[in-house]
Amino acid sequence: MKVFTKIKDIQEFLSEQKRNGKTIGFVPTMGYLHEGHLSLVKKATAENDLTVMSIFVNPIQFGPNEDFERYPRDFDRDRKLAEDNGVDVLFHPSVEEMYPEESIVQMNVKKRKDVLCGRTRKGHFDGVVTVLTKLFHITMPDRAYFGLKDAQQFAIVQGFVADLNFPIDIIGVETVREEDGLAKSSRNTYLSAQERKEAPEIYQALLKGKKAVENGVDDPAEIVRLVSDHIRQNTGGEIDYVEVLSFPELDPLERIKGKVIIATAVQFASARLIDNVILDLSR
Ligand code: AMP
Repeated sequence: MKVFTKIKDIQEFLSEQKRNGKTIGFVPTMGYLHEGHLSLVKKATAENDLTVMSIFVNPIQFGPNEDFERYPRDFDRDRKLAEDNGVDVLFHPSVEEMYPEESIVQMNVKKRKDVLCGRTRKGHFDGVVTVLTKLFHITMPDRAYFGLKDAQQFAIVQGFVADLNFPIDIIGVETVREEDGLAKSSRNTYLSAQERKEAPEIYQALLKGKKAVENGVDDPAEIVRLVSDHIRQNTGGEIDYVEVLSFPELDPLERIKGKVIIATAVQFASARLIDNVILDLSR
């Protein structure tokens, strides 16, 4: 596995690979790798000649009161995991390398951002599409892989790549879970023992909502109530949101139909967890 920290070096290397006809699959991450990240790598290695992973905790997608400073980092462990799981090229730039001076342009997401996490994480998705624009220009991938756990991110990235004509296929990958159903996340390390016990109830709540929809409940408010009640009754976490929206448009629904997402964010003492289920009623 080749490791790069400088933009110019990785661009030179990958340009040469592309000239030789190699296809590139790209997996952007913030590191502290777990099986969720590695499932993206597995798909990328199966579908491309070269798998490129970035590990970069992107400061501009964190709000002033968010966890940028304390976000877990362990590059030596990540490097080994990446290599053992088939990553060919690892890009691990410093913040100074990615943002050497104040930017003269700013990316603004216009749609799909005023719901779910976008409600409270102002500017978060602007930071995401900005860093992805840079990373896409740096790694020049044919395909890029994103987890559906971050469903709003996936919906926005799909829209932004289509809008700006990036010649990249955006591939969504199912959420990888712990045995008890908790969605794997680097932020799970923040949970206390008690919170870790309660956290799988978030997925149970979503499954309850999904089942109700499958059984014919088509009132979004009723699903929100059902899911919220389950989370309140079974965890000490505070609900940030429970929403039922069309997917990937993320529009509100009068009645539940077509492809929809039931999504939630729950704030525990020191960890904010998100999860969702996506259902397609048109099939
Ligand atoms: P992060 O390092 O949290 O920014 O995540 C990097 C990529 O891994 C994103 O596309 C995430 O959606 C994806 N990802 C994170 N957790 C999971 C999971 N449990 N299952 C599948 N993909 C995930």
